[in-house]
Amino acid sequence: MLNTTGNDHYLLTPGPLTTSLETKKAMLRDWGSRDEQFISLTRKICRRLVDLVDGLGTHACVPVQGSGTFAVEAALGTLIGPSDKALLLVNGTYGRRMAQILDIIGRDHIILETPENVPCNVALLEQTLSQDPDITHVAVVHCETTSGIVNPIEDISAVVQEYGRRLLIDAMSAFGALALSTHNVCFDAVMASSNKCLEGVPGFGFVIAKETSLHEAEGNAHSLSLDLYAQWQGFNKNGQWRFTPPTHVCAAFAQALREYDAEGGLVARHQRYEKNCRTLVDGMEQMGFVPFLDRAVQAPIIVTFHSPADPKFDFYSFFQYLAERHYVIYPGKLTTTASFRIGCIGQVYEEHIKGALAAIRDYLSIAGVTDCRPVTPPRKDATS
Ligand SMILES: *Cc1c(COP(=O)(O)O)cnc(C)c1O
Repeated sequence: MLNTTGNDHYLLTPGPLTTSLETKKAMLRDWGSRDEQFISLTRKICRRLVDLVDGLGTHACVPVQGSGTFAVEAALGTLIGPSDKALLLVNGTYGRRMAQILDIIGRDHIILETPENVPCNVALLEQTLSQDPDITHVAVVHCETTSGIVNPIEDISAVVQEYGRRLLIDAMSAFGALALSTHNVCFDAVMASSNKCLEGVPGFGFVIAKETSLHEAEGNAHSLSLDLYAQWQGFNKNGQWRFTPPTHVCAAFAQALREYDAEGGLVARHQRYEKNCRTLVDGMEQMGFVPFLDRAVQAPIIVTFHSPADPKFDFYSFFQYLAERHYVIYPGKLTTTASFRIGCIGQVYEEHIKGALAAIRDYLSIAGVTDCRPVTPPRKDATS
C-alpha cells in the first residue's frame, strides 16, 4: 500500500529518508553529464547551497559523488595539509569517524572527547588552543546523529576565531534545518549531503568552503577522486563533474530544494521538525519511555530513547512490528547504553509521528510490556 509520498513505509531514520513523490518523479528522465541543462542544474544547486549559509562571494560549494562520508573525507584530506594539526571535538560516532579518517590519511590530530550526552567542552577547547600553537584546524559535528545532540557551534566558532585557527564542521544531519550562517559562524568548510534535512535522495555529499582556503589547499589531497581542490577546479573550468555525476540524484535534489523554498526554507523546516520532535518525545514520555538527552541539548533531528529494562521488550520484534505497520525506526549507536532511535526528518509530518506512536502503543500492549523505564537511571552528569 503506497502512502502520499509513493512509498509503502515511512523512514523515521536519519537518512536515507522519506522523500516527496515529486522529488522521486524528478528522476524519471536521463541526463547527459556534459549536457548544458545538467551543467546549469549543478550550478544552480551549488549557488543555492552557498546562499543558504550566506556565503555568496566568499565561499564555493563543491559537490562530491558518494555518501556524506566521502565529502567529509575529501574536506579533511584536502583542507588539512600534511604539516597541519587538527583538534577534533568528539561526542559520538561521527566525531570518531573523522579521527579514523585522519588516522588513515596520516594527518596529525588530537581529540577532546565528552560523553555522548554532553555537548563539546568549549572551555577545554579554549585552554587547549591557548596551550598548543601547533593546532591549525578544529573539526566538530554540528548535530551528532549518534545521540541527536546539538553542539554549541557559535561558541566553538568564536573561540576558534579568537585563536586564529580554522573550523571544519560536519553539519551533515543539521544542514538546512539548524541555523548555520557565515554571519554567526566563521568556518573554513561545512560538509553535508543530499539525503538529510534537504530531503533529497542519497548519492552525493557537498562541501561549502572558503575560496581562499581551497586555493591554499592545492596539492594537499591524499586521493585522486577525493581531491576537493581538483574537483573545485574541474567545476570552475567547464561546470562539469570530474567523474560520472549522479545525474538523477542531482535532478531529484533540485526538486527537493524547490520544495524546501516553497515550504519556507530553514525556518519552516526547522519548525516542522521541531513539532515532530516535540510530539514524539511527549508521546513516548507518556508511555514511560525515557529519552537519552536533556531537552535543552536535543536537536529536532533524531531522538534516542533508552531501551526499557522490562524483559518482555525485545528490540528486534519491536522493530519488526513497527515495520509491518509501515514505520521504520533505527537501532541505537551509543557505546554505553541499550537504546533505539526515531528520526524526525524527511517528508514526515505530525500525523505520521502520531501514527508511529499509536503503533508503538499497540506493540507494548501485544508484547505485554508494562514498564518502559531503562535498566539504569539515565545519566544526568554535566561534566566529563
Ligand atoms: C549521515 C551522517 C554522515 C554521513 O554518513 P554517510 O553514511 O556517509 O552518508 C556524517 N556525519 C553525520 C553527523 C551524519 O549524520
